[in-house]
Amino acid sequence: MLPPLSRRPVLVTGGAGFLGSHLCERLLDEGHHVVALDNLSSGSLDNVGPLLNHPRFVLLCRDVTAPIEITPSCIFNLACPASPPFYQRDPVKTTLTSVIGTWRMLELARTHRVPMLQASTSEVYGDPLVHPQSEDYRGHVSIMGPRACYDEGKRCAETLCFDYLRKYATPVHVARIFNTYGPRMLPGDGRVVSNFIVQALRGECITLYGDGRQSRSFCFVQDTIEGLVRLVSSAINGPVNLGNPHEISMRDLAGHILHLTGSRSRVVHRPLPEDDPRQRCPDISVARQHLGWWPRISLEEGLVRTIAHFREVLGNRAASLAA
Ligand code: NAD
Ligand code: UDP
Repeated sequence: MLPPLSRRPVLVTGGAGFLGSHLCERLLDEGHHVVALDNLSSGSLDNVGPLLNHPRFVLLCRDVTAPIEITPSCIFNLACPASPPFYQRDPVKTTLTSVIGTWRMLELARTHRVPMLQASTSEVYGDPLVHPQSEDYRGHVSIMGPRACYDEGKRCAETLCFDYLRKYATPVHVARIFNTYGPRMLPGDGRVVSNFIVQALRGECITLYGDGRQSRSFCFVQDTIEGLVRLVSSAINGPVNLGNPHEISMRDLAGHILHLTGSRSRVVHRPLPEDDPRQRCPDISVARQHLGWWPRISLEEGLVRTIAHFREVLGNRAASLAA
């Protein structure tokens, strides 16, 4: 359960990242003390800049795999790069971040008998042979491919969570998060929504990988954060899928973004990365039934808000370069 308000902080690893910074903000708004732990490898100080002067917020710049002494009231373990170019940059580190980092956080949760939410991923289903994916699907994952450091690291992290639950009754909550997008994705993040929007706004070519018929299901960040908070406040250990079941091909996504930005960028095809999943769509029956959760923000509304964010970021950059 998300504990009652106290001076013991909620620990958010990966707190300077895209999802982590939104989560920190949400927890501060609810009155919690928050410690964000982040090595800033794929996050940014800008994400938490406005929080740094908050009296109930502390940022610890350190690695989740290192030992730590802290007495939290609850742990959200989000530390791990999520964008393929970022997690493939140092694949060994990515695996170790998931495995050792999750083990460290589970030890902390066990010692202090506090709940821990693990940010798992739809990537545990790999390139799925079952569609849509429900939590009982065991997945179709390459052990050896370039995405394995992320997928298998997250699968092993889930294994650790459920072993701590069985062996020590540590209260774990495992969320399988599907593609989430929104303000604060970095312009150079490499994920498809940020890539397409930034390319469209700059008038650059839209880089569509493969034939563009592969699908994803995109959830707006505010909806995902609501799901994480509901999950940790519940008695459900999971795993629980959190995602938007609205499935769309990358070709259609490019078309939407061109339309909503009014951009005249051309679409160019680039090779499909190895092991790129062909389709992905969550079955969210468990979240609906047990958490009363489902996404409220449509893709169009979410894209409009995300485009507004990138217009501002790119505008500010252009202004500071001109100055
Ligand atoms: P992100 O890259 O923006 O955030 C991850 C944060 O973790 C960054 O701030 C990074 O600096 C930090 N980090 C990475 N390795 C670390 C380490 N060894 N020690 C300390 N900090 C470290 O990614 P995100 O989209 O915010 O994802 C957050 C979490 O949610 C990740 O665990 C990711 O696997 C999971 N997730 C995200 C999505 C999504 O679509 N955004 C989907 C599924 C799962
Ligand atoms: N993609 C694309 N162009 C880009 C970036 C990504 O066509 O500039 C495709 C990518 O091949 C994948 C989909 O968009 O099929 C989603 O990619 P992303 O990296 O956002 O998420 P993931 O593959 O991890 O779900």
